Amino acid sequence: VRATRGGEEVRGYVPSMGQIFLRRFQLVTQFRQALEDGQVSVHYQPKVSLPDKNVVGVEALVRWVHPEFGRVNPDEFVPAVEATGLVGALTSFVLDQALDRVRRWLDEGLEMSVAVNLSVRSLADEDFAEQVADALARHGVPARLLTFEITESAVMADPQRALPILGELHDLGIELAVDDFGTGYSSLAYLRRLPVDQVKIDKSFVFGMSTDLGDLAVVRSIVELGHSLGLSVVAEGVEDDSSRDQLEAMGCDVAQGYLISRPLAEDRLEAWLLARTARSAGNRDETVLTL
Ligand code: C2E
Ligand code: MG
Ligand code: MG
Ligand code: MG
Repeated sequence: VRATRGGEEVRGYVPSMGQIFLRRFQLVTQFRQALEDGQVSVHYQPKVSLPDKNVVGVEALVRWVHPEFGRVNPDEFVPAVEATGLVGALTSFVLDQALDRVRRWLDEGLEMSVAVNLSVRSLADEDFAEQVADALARHGVPARLLTFEITESAVMADPQRALPILGELHDLGIELAVDDFGTGYSSLAYLRRLPVDQVKIDKSFVFGMSTDLGDLAVVRSIVELGHSLGLSVVAEGVEDDSSRDQLEAMGCDVAQGYLISRPLAEDRLEAWLLARTARSAGNRDETVLTL
């Protein structure tokens, strides 16, 4: 968009505060209807183990195609929805879809785990663990095939409330991962006290690790810290071979990123998994899924 202001050409479109507020208001007020109208769906991004590259699971990522705005980025609408009472509806929608997906994989003889992102609000809901236990039972999915990803800041927002809920989820046998690790503060002290199984290195460090020594140092320290606490370490945002090779060399356990695959709609994920099974069966006479 081009505009002229006082004879000077202004390039690019900068929405005003009013426009941002209005759009945010529309997103929040229209979200529940969007769920009912089928505008919201779940995509899945594969995670592969290092160094063998087996597919160990997928992360469920919500998608919204709005009739007027088109694709809306979750980084925009999730925080807006989180600020309202609607986040429970978002979480249960994604959880339901994800568990249904895992159930159908189980029916096909495939054990695949799914990770669902949790908002800070869910960690303030005292009944949350019970709702999750019900959902697992309803879908007939063992708890160990479900992972919840929680950001440090979500836990830090109210650790007194979040910790018991995390404890209950963990006791159910669900895996817990700290998402976007390295971006918050006071991480080290708290990581030791959280009932978590995994740390996910934030993609901002992974993007930079092949060119920036500082980022490389952060990644390396998170891998070492995670391992010394007995946690599995996942790197998100793996976009190129050199980062993947470096992560593998430093002993990082799992990689996720565009190099392996973008988040995919269900049918495309199925095709991706099939292509992979076929390839590894043909090449190596085995049926594991490999990169
Ligand atoms: P996240 O949980 O940290 O998810 C990883 C994000 O990084 C995803 O963005 C994914 O598409 C993106 N990503 C993965 N690999 C690469 C890569 O190699 N390069 C680049 N450039 N990006 C990569 P997405 O799907 O836009 O989601 C953004 C955030 O929105 C998520 O960050 C998560 O915090 C939130 N979110 C997404 N789905 C849900 C949900 O169902 N519930 C909640 N509460 N939050 C969600
Ligand atoms: Mg995540
Ligand atoms: Mg993340
Ligand atoms: Mg994030």
